[in-house]
Amino acid sequence: MKKLTLINDEATNKLGSEIAMEILKSSSQEIEIHLEGDLGAGKTFISRSIIKNCGWKELVKSPTYTLCEEYEFNDLMFLHIDLYRTNEAEDIDIFDLSRKINSKKIVLIEWPERLQYQRDYDLKIIFNHLPEGREVSLIPCNNGFEAWLKNYE
Ligand code: ADP
Ligand code: MG
Repeated sequence: MKKLTLINDEATNKLGSEIAMEILKSSSQEIEIHLEGDLGAGKTFISRSIIKNCGWKELVKSPTYTLCEEYEFNDLMFLHIDLYRTNEAEDIDIFDLSRKINSKKIVLIEWPERLQYQRDYDLKIIFNHLPEGREVSLIPCNNGFEAWLKNYE
């Protein structure tokens, strides 16, 4: 686990771009990232940064109302999920996360605390508000992200 202080939007964006590079480099075909933290903490913000830094040129919407947004481009598929409004255990199943695809699949989940059944993740990011900026705790659960985090300044 590593804690970082992100002093402003730009610092969060930089972290997002580093995670994007790691996703692009990774040899795994499925990567799951869990994003925890209060409303307005930065979960959607960093998701947007990750997706855009992987090459998506258009809008990245917040999935708060739609629950799931999908982005398919350059042999990548992102499933960006927000469970804030769900209470139903089976909700996650409707997104068909285990579908077989030829692209590298990246699942980003905001509010994974709402999952009825815990899912394995490759990286968990926990956001906390500071008086100015944010503190993030990064918890890697796969070798690639662990090695990346060791070198991350
Ligand atoms: P949520 O966690 O509910 O998805 P959002 O990502 O929608 O929150 O909103 C996060 C807000 O925090 C945005 O307004 C963004 O500009 C701001 N923000 C992101 N990173 C930082 C930071 N390191 N310091 C201060 N504000 C930040
Ligand atoms: Mg959000």
